[in-house]
Amino acid sequence: MEQLASYVAGGWVEGTGKKATLVNATTEAPMAEASSEGVDFGAAYAHARDVGGPALRAMTFKERGARLRAFSKLLHASRDELMGLGIANAGNTRSDAKFDVDGAAMTLAAYADVADELGETHLLVDGEPINLGRSSKLTGQHVWLPLQGVAVHVNAFNFPAWGLAEKAAVALLAGVPVISKPATSTALMAHRIMRLAVEQDILPRGALAFVAGGTGDLLSRLGGQDVLAFTGSGSTGALFRGLANVGSQSVRVNVEADSLNAAILGPDAEPGSETFDLFVKDVARDVTQKAGQKCTAIRRVFVPTSRLEAVREALVDRLTSAKVGDPSRDDVQVGPVATKKQQEDVLAGIQRFAAAGAKIVVGGGLPAEPLGVEKGRGFFVAPTLLECASLSAVPLVHEHEVFGPCTTLLPYDDTASMIAAVRAGGGGLVSSAYSDDKAFVRELFLGVASALGRLVLGNEKIAAGAIPPGTVMASLVHGGPGRAGGGEELGGLRGLSLYLQRTALQGYGPLVASLVADGKKIG
Ligand code: NAP
Repeated sequence: MEQLASYVAGGWVEGTGKKATLVNATTEAPMAEASSEGVDFGAAYAHARDVGGPALRAMTFKERGARLRAFSKLLHASRDELMGLGIANAGNTRSDAKFDVDGAAMTLAAYADVADELGETHLLVDGEPINLGRSSKLTGQHVWLPLQGVAVHVNAFNFPAWGLAEKAAVALLAGVPVISKPATSTALMAHRIMRLAVEQDILPRGALAFVAGGTGDLLSRLGGQDVLAFTGSGSTGALFRGLANVGSQSVRVNVEADSLNAAILGPDAEPGSETFDLFVKDVARDVTQKAGQKCTAIRRVFVPTSRLEAVREALVDRLTSAKVGDPSRDDVQVGPVATKKQQEDVLAGIQRFAAAGAKIVVGGGLPAEPLGVEKGRGFFVAPTLLECASLSAVPLVHEHEVFGPCTTLLPYDDTASMIAAVRAGGGGLVSSAYSDDKAFVRELFLGVASALGRLVLGNEKIAAGAIPPGTVMASLVHGGPGRAGGGEELGGLRGLSLYLQRTALQGYGPLVASLVADGKKIG
């Protein structure tokens, strides 16, 4: 069986001791083993900081961008092989796996474009010089320089390619070396990406390391020049925030966690209108795509009571016609969830909602006969639609995220109560509103935006070319307050700030000007 090794301190290290087994999510056949036991995390950290860091900082933004572009091309050239691993190990349909791999390549390319804009410089100059006295003799100037530590990236199981690439692209462009750790259960694709990057010599020595398995004592080594960026459950995020060195040494921590994303249909959107259809399409896609395992997937569907029946009917139609089964088949739209544990958690979550009073409209358990799958095999969950009698009938739906092919209908009668219920989710990554009524959209925007990282507005003007709310864009920030972790990633140039220190340079004007003369002015 394939043994997944870690790539640290410039070499591949196979772990010892008890290993985790990675399986095929459809057949449950073992595919690989991983363990990081025996990895010298002290040497891994030191190599990244002392070899990778200086190498990256010696390069200009443009030069770092050229490496990101080469990385992007490498993923594109290897996409069929990588997608095959996503289909087998993570239960992705071909389209799900494409979403992950192409998303990774596009994000790397987007940051290569940002690098081209920044050009041949090592320094970012933030805004204009500020006169501190009556003349320009005394000046203040804000500048950004890379931290001289290491970025540790701990990723979730659902996007092994994109998760690695979207975090690494930003840190590497900033000039900070990365130690990347995928979730173990679906690590095959990320491991292959790392193998390819090493074989093709894509990055300078020490710039990107990879951990297959647990993080050992790595996190306790982090200090004030390091960054810990995490995607996963809120409880692991809280654990990381509570690490003694994280608190005492002000380690920068970015958390992307759970999110009870909402889709809101405006009272004006008539069944049959383009806006209504866009809403139904987005909700149904988020139940079926990646078997609902997207951090951005719509979990709560807010619908005017007068439209409830029409929406229910349209969603039932779409969800019952989505074919569940072996994700390698072209006629299948919904694959299994990634692991047995994930399947158990999703089924238990649905039952908790039902026990608390939510009605199961469709699904709710195992699918009858997943296409092309041996009976009893695979981590399948039927696409599930639940419905609550009112916004407040089942408080649990505003508190608990079922991370699978499941969403809940919530009828509303007035905008203010609906806004309060959206906010009851405790902070989200993204929500979407579907309406052509400007006054309604304005009230909703002002009411919910501060509880969200992104608000997507769907209407008839953009229905034809709309980008779904579940698609994270490299040019827009990804993250959200509260339950969503309080983090912020991507957003073009904005994302770099996690890995850069902003310093106010203060002194004799001409001296300050000469020090920043070859910097790139931003902001
Ligand atoms: P999880 O248990 O928190 O695991 C996430 C990552 O953290 C994995 O790489 C895991 O490694 C690692 N990890 C867990 N405990 C650790 C510890 N004590 N020390 C070091 N590393 C540790 O999350 P999950 O349940 O697999 O993921 C699902 C959750 O992620 C969902 O709730 C979903 O909402 C959230 N999510 C959020 C986003 C976002 O962008 N906001 C994206 C995707 C998923 P191992 O695999 O080796 O255990």
